[in-house]
Amino acid sequence: MGDSDPFGELVAGCRKLGMNVIARTDPHATYQDVYDAHPDWIAVEAAGNKRRHWASPELWVTCALGPYNFEFMTAVTREIVERYQVDGIFSNRWDGSGMCYCEHCQTNFKQATGFDLPRTSNPQDPARRAFIVWEQQRLFELWRLWDATIRKANPNAGFMANAGGGALSTLDMKTIGELAPTLFADRQARSGVAPPWTNGKNGKEYRATLGRKAIVGIFSVGVEEPYRWKDSVQSSEEIRLWVVDGIANGLRPWFTKFSGTLYDGRWLKPVEELYGWHYRNERYLRNEQPLARVAMVYSQQTATFYGGVQAEAKVEDHTLGFYQALIEARIPFEMVHDRLFDAGHTDQFRTLILPNIAALSDAQCAQLRQFVERGGSLVATYETSLYDEWGVRRRDFGLADLFGLSANGPAEGPLRNSYLNIEKNERTGEYHPLLAGLEDAGRIINGVHRIPAQPREKGIYVPLTLIPSYPDLPMEKVFPRVPKTDIPGVTARQIGKGRVVFFPWDIDRTYWEVLSPDHGKLLRNAVMWATNEEPVVRVQGTGLLEVTVWTQKQSLTVHLVNLSNPMMMKGPVREIVPIGSQKVRLRLPSGKRLAGVKLLVGGTQPVFSETAGVVEVQVPSIALHEVVAFDLA
Ligand SMILES: [Zn+2]
Repeated sequence: MGDSDPFGELVAGCRKLGMNVIARTDPHATYQDVYDAHPDWIAVEAAGNKRRHWASPELWVTCALGPYNFEFMTAVTREIVERYQVDGIFSNRWDGSGMCYCEHCQTNFKQATGFDLPRTSNPQDPARRAFIVWEQQRLFELWRLWDATIRKANPNAGFMANAGGGALSTLDMKTIGELAPTLFADRQARSGVAPPWTNGKNGKEYRATLGRKAIVGIFSVGVEEPYRWKDSVQSSEEIRLWVVDGIANGLRPWFTKFSGTLYDGRWLKPVEELYGWHYRNERYLRNEQPLARVAMVYSQQTATFYGGVQAEAKVEDHTLGFYQALIEARIPFEMVHDRLFDAGHTDQFRTLILPNIAALSDAQCAQLRQFVERGGSLVATYETSLYDEWGVRRRDFGLADLFGLSANGPAEGPLRNSYLNIEKNERTGEYHPLLAGLEDAGRIINGVHRIPAQPREKGIYVPLTLIPSYPDLPMEKVFPRVPKTDIPGVTARQIGKGRVVFFPWDIDRTYWEVLSPDHGKLLRNAVMWATNEEPVVRVQGTGLLEVTVWTQKQSLTVHLVNLSNPMMMKGPVREIVPIGSQKVRLRLPSGKRLAGVKLLVGGTQPVFSETAGVVEVQVPSIALHEVVAFDLA
């Protein structure tokens, strides 16, 4: 910039402080002079016109899959690393800004697949399916090219993509887990009705494929609603809650502040305090592994090929509902990627949850069957395994043998005014443990979508039976036309040492929409019954609390994040509302001996007792967050 080199000065200053430096690039837009010199580098809309930037109209949106990224940005990347010897390049918005119909995309796609660029978003359209696969290959090719370019200029540096996430993210997380030395979750804050546990969910999703690699949660101090007031400041309590939930789930905090101008300094104190606490307790935050025994599966192929443009409602809402139920039940859990069902990635868990994981290949179904044969348990919902990996419907569930049910019709719904009868086992006179807390209910509300399914064997006990929809108006007409059926609303089966629970309806998605406490109980009971062992950690007390449990070199930690807040389901948080005393029971892993217990936020040494490898601690109260640290001898 003129005769000066601001970036060079920053790098030199950081090096003097012993800091590592990662440079950030952003190739998604460019200026008029670039347009004039290389009009073919600019992204093209479906109608054929070149694409202006949506927020800064003096800019043009670039094509991610052509020479702008593959040639020009490769040269830029090489120049930065050669000149400044940075430790890595973090690239933002490098993977495109939606569909591009430029001449390069047209030619390259045609050459690779024989198809013209798709004009529909239906994943069952052959050209769209081919495009999904091709675009992914092209972006990973770019990733490898930039990584090799960086490493050639500095062997200790590497490429860090702004990429990754859960089922709705587009680049395959298994491949990202193999390629990325580290990954940063760029989820700056919540918006709309996102609950504060969303930040921790990013951590679980990243760790599913990155394992113990260092992962980071980028949080912003600005407001993250669609109107993007990026020069604003969130409430201090909102920032704190978002960050500690990430820390509780293994994310290292990284704050981002747009521009260097300080319009409103209220974010400085909470950020300083968060980092100060993190620094003082760092040795208890160097997690080696989570001790959770339950894991929820996420499936990008289900979102892409079965969910398509409706993936949020058809796929992610099931996950969110089950996630919320597990948080309420205080069950620590991890997430597992559906392309990592091998023993190495699943045997640390007792139970895998499949929240409408509809699209599964034969090979994936076989891996789940093997997991159950090894003593693992499954809890599955709705259309799980009813489609193959490309989203094409099968005749029956791929896991029908485990579910004990066969699908016999197309999905029904949205269902109104339908119920489920609570059934006693006639042979034993008892209710199934799945129904704990619902014995006096008689019947409960059904979900909104179901798959007609019939038992594969006769005479089995079905704990929930369907009462089909009947008129909900006028009130004189509101009575069940069919008072009782034997159509199962759930199956719960012991298979060798494993257990399988299957709900052939959208209990988890309905929970996200309706939040019926009865559905919450059913989901909790299903996971408890399937897991069939004394929990690693049990936390008793009132309030909504997220619980995670970790091992470090010389300690175990239990994080308790207090989500009890009137703004839990719609931020921003105004104040933290402390909750009262909690009793934490931790089962020590065999062979470990306890040296002491302390509270890392309260700063005190709590009262505790130990009997036969089980430690009981009384935590007097929790404001935002508490970490119970168990030092090992
Ligand atoms: Zn293009």
